[in-house]
Amino acid sequence: MSLANAREYECVRCGFREVADDALLSTCRRCGSEMRNVERVCD
Ligand SMILES: [Zn+2]
Repeated sequence: MSLANAREYECVRCGFREVADDALLSTCRRCGSEMRNVERVCD
């Protein structure tokens, strides 16, 4: 419900995932690599 607009990002390098509201995540906190938006699939 509250996560309706949440988007999940995944680091292309280490696979670290983070969910952000509508903020743009472009850098991995863990390794500093590029973060990529991941489409959320209903499960
Ligand atoms: Zn990373």
